[in-house]
Amino acid sequence: MSLCVTFLGTAGAIPTTERNPSSLFVAREGDQLLFDAGEGTQRQMMRFGTGFSISHLFVTHLHGDHVLGIPGLLQTMAFNDREEPLSIHTPHGTRRQINSLVNALGNRPSFPVRINEVGDGDVASRADEYEVRVFGTDHDTRSVGYALVEDDRKGRFDREHAEELGVPVGPKFSKLHAGESVELEDGTVVDPEQVVGEPRTGRSLVYTGDTRPTTATIEVADEPDLLIHDATFADDRADRAATTAHSTARQAAEIANRAGVDRLALMHLSSRYAGHTDDHLTQARAVFDGEVFVPEDGQKLEIPYPDD
Ligand SMILES: [Zn+2]
Ligand SMILES: [Zn+2]
Repeated sequence: MSLCVTFLGTAGAIPTTERNPSSLFVAREGDQLLFDAGEGTQRQMMRFGTGFSISHLFVTHLHGDHVLGIPGLLQTMAFNDREEPLSIHTPHGTRRQINSLVNALGNRPSFPVRINEVGDGDVASRADEYEVRVFGTDHDTRSVGYALVEDDRKGRFDREHAEELGVPVGPKFSKLHAGESVELEDGTVVDPEQVVGEPRTGRSLVYTGDTRPTTATIEVADEPDLLIHDATFADDRADRAATTAHSTARQAAEIANRAGVDRLALMHLSSRYAGHTDDHLTQARAVFDGEVFVPEDGQKLEIPYPDD
């Protein structure tokens, strides 16, 4: 099962020539999800070849740099004769604003658009093998973050041991792996616990959107593989981070440390730092041992299973 993130837009509130406003595209096997849709998101989707088959859009908050791409994206979907429904998840109390963006030109799109208001602790959407959880963030407007969390996977099947116990190669292997006991020809019963290991945790990624550092980010998922965190400022503007309800790279790294994440992506850098990401990286690395990076627009990141 592949799980891949494409950073479509990594800019702060004001775009730069190199960075588009916020948007992330996540593909998990056949499912395609979009997180935020700043202005120009549809063109980034074209540039970086993601396609438009998203089923869900998760909005962190209603600042322009996270939502102004919605009208254009929906218009293009309609031009493409889209028929599949699109679900837009958005913080409580923002349905009306999302509705205005969806109907910006006075008529609804030709395909169904469902708006789902969400808040801290909700599951925004549930799929076969994963869910997207919502957590409260601390910004200067109604805001949430999202975590894609996979279910536990089956334990490893010990084929060698199964054969030693006399289980014939074939359907009985699958039954045991699926958690059922099997009876052998001589009447012996083999239980799954004898040949299947402990369930293995799935993968997870957490996206904060714009926020001051919050403990909710730490609690929403157990040691996520990837944390994509607001890092609008470096230490030189820590005061400004606090007054504008954003984080510094160091604060993002402290959260990453406490959450036990493997990789930290620093997002939403202010245009003041255009072309200068060294301070962000140095200050984050001072407090976080894992891998830290400042993603570029178009960068793709595959998240492997931890034990692969
Ligand atoms: Zn923003
Ligand atoms: Zn914002």
